[in-house]
Amino acid sequence: MAQKGFNAYKMAQEQFDKVAKELELDNGTWELLRTPIREYHFNIPVKMDDGTTKVFKGFRIQHNDARGPCKGGIRFHPQETADTVRALSMWMTWKCSVANIPLGGGKGGVICDPHNLSLREQESICRGWVRQISKNVGPTEDVPAPDVMTNSQHMLWMLDEYEMLNGGRYPGFITGKPVGMGGSLGRTEATGYGLIFALREACKEAEIDIGRTTASVQGFGNVAQYAIELYSQYGGSVVCVSCWDQEDSTAYSFSKKDSINLKELRGITDRFGSIDKKRAKELGYEVLPDDAWMKQEVDILIPAALENSITAENVSNISSKVKMTVEGANGPTTPEADKELYERGITVIPDFLANAGGVICSYFEQVQSNSNYFWTKDEVLGKLDDKMTEAYYAVMELSKRKKISLRDAAYMIAISRVAEACRLRGWV
Ligand code: NAD
Repeated sequence: MAQKGFNAYKMAQEQFDKVAKELELDNGTWELLRTPIREYHFNIPVKMDDGTTKVFKGFRIQHNDARGPCKGGIRFHPQETADTVRALSMWMTWKCSVANIPLGGGKGGVICDPHNLSLREQESICRGWVRQISKNVGPTEDVPAPDVMTNSQHMLWMLDEYEMLNGGRYPGFITGKPVGMGGSLGRTEATGYGLIFALREACKEAEIDIGRTTASVQGFGNVAQYAIELYSQYGGSVVCVSCWDQEDSTAYSFSKKDSINLKELRGITDRFGSIDKKRAKELGYEVLPDDAWMKQEVDILIPAALENSITAENVSNISSKVKMTVEGANGPTTPEADKELYERGITVIPDFLANAGGVICSYFEQVQSNSNYFWTKDEVLGKLDDKMTEAYYAVMELSKRKKISLRDAAYMIAISRVAEACRLRGWV
């Protein structure tokens, strides 16, 4: 999403350049990997409920598919920009690569605000998006998924449109479908749980008992809620969460001294992950300003809302008690802030490793859909744990060996694998 003075694509390229230099990538590979391989920008005309026609801007951007079909979500957001989608597509390539799944990176979006759209209008946008791009996506080309403000219902409308256009059943076209309609058990939990699987291993490594830690979380949507669920099962206490407030057009933090109560907060949260502040106050929560979540004296910070939340301007707000940040969102920490956290000895489990659980489970969904055979939830979550743990240790071992941050180590592994795939295919 566009934010004043911040460009996610520039940040993604900056992160890539730093590691490409380290890896001594040749010029051709460097040039190929620092920009998306294909971009599609299109208009989606929609008949609105009031009888007028509105035209929405849609995107699908494919960064790289050397390791397999592109994979990545579709966001509905009023401030969506092509540059944000470019950055996110690039991060998807690295994420699939570091997770070692046979997929490339893509991302899509539509500039729209679902808060102001009826379900029928949203369905028309979904179907219109597929009509514009159906020839360039598909189970063997590019497999979309939900992202911010899109969900399983949107995915099913998109699948239905794709199948109508192609005259068959192609459940492997899209992931994040409802369970029973080609969706995988465990997908809803996957990203949040994946974060905590990585955190659990990082705590073991640092000889910290996760059950005695405290955390503060930015966001209270899908990723945040399931991260809190598993973290609490491991015995950790979340003392603060923050979320967007549509009515006041700002975010608020909600804190409770010993621990927030996940069930209680879920009960007063809407489908966009916004907590009802009046009811929260009645339940004894302190309603604090936007950035209070990052000022908490906790062991662990989990930014799980949007990009650009820990920046050069606010990083000094982070308490000296914090030992780790686990990035649930994509791109929540700017490179300047990241440098400062590293210098302060705070371990950052980087976004494309920490939140890879979502895409790993999407990959499992694709495998199950393509074979028309579905696994139990325990099987899915067990395989997810194995993949996350394996990816975390590969990154951690390289970071130790080379004395570099986990982010740089994750980038090195991810970029080397994609560069090698391009080389083996004879592209470079
Ligand atoms: P979501 O729409 O379910 O929830 C987003 C949450 O962030 C909501 O609680 C919202 O109120 C809050 N929020 C929005 N603006 C905020 C602000 N300025 N300050 C504080 N809170 C704010 O989205 P999600 O699926 O939970 O995704 C969150 C992040 O994780 C995004 O960056 C997304 O790209 C990333 N991610 C999601 C998945 C997934 O599987 N859902 C996978 C990988 C990465």
